Amino acid sequence: MPYPAVEAVRDAVGPDMEIMVDANQAWPIHGFSEYPTWDLKRAMVTARELEALGVAWLEEPLGMYDYDALSTLTASTALNISGGEMNSDIFEFRELIGRRCYDILQPDVTLSCGILNGKKIAGMAEAAGLSLNPHTWTNGIGLAANLHLMGAIPNCTYCEFPYEPPGWVPEARDAMLARPFDIDGEGYVHLPEAPGLGIEVDMEKIRAHGEKIL
Ligand SMILES: [Mg+2]
Repeated sequence: MPYPAVEAVRDAVGPDMEIMVDANQAWPIHGFSEYPTWDLKRAMVTARELEALGVAWLEEPLGMYDYDALSTLTASTALNISGGEMNSDIFEFRELIGRRCYDILQPDVTLSCGILNGKKIAGMAEAAGLSLNPHTWTNGIGLAANLHLMGAIPNCTYCEFPYEPPGWVPEARDAMLARPFDIDGEGYVHLPEAPGLGIEVDMEKIRAHGEKIL
């Protein structure tokens, strides 16, 4: 089965940059566009192909509650399987971790669990020898909240942040902030050091946006 998009990205970025693939099968977002629903066999074939292409992880290849199939898939491949952005609270993650559904847990503190439960989930994952890389595809406030979890746990290996030029750039993602987060030339984002979430919400920008809507 060919994967021209992944092959094209590999050609574009070269052999050293890690590539992650998101199948978006865990929760129903088909309203955005039409795409196929995967079953376990499809996920296993895809994982085998992506492993050969040197992909770092395959994200959400099956339904968010399909614990048995996820466990079978993850045990069947050396490719890292990740997910959990819309699973909630500590109890669903207890199942995902206990059944080893994923190699990498991806709760989002704004969607899944909050910062405190994110810390608890990270501890459960750490004890199971698993990584936790939060999903952060929201905005500057969500990125700030997830950064605080990332900075407080030892088993976070990547910081995911929304970045998709030309439209989804820091100025758009962080439009409600007095200052957008700066991603440095090496691809690092620095933890905020100010009190609270470490961000300053620009109420003038928010009010101006609200008036346009009204
Ligand atoms: Mg995802």
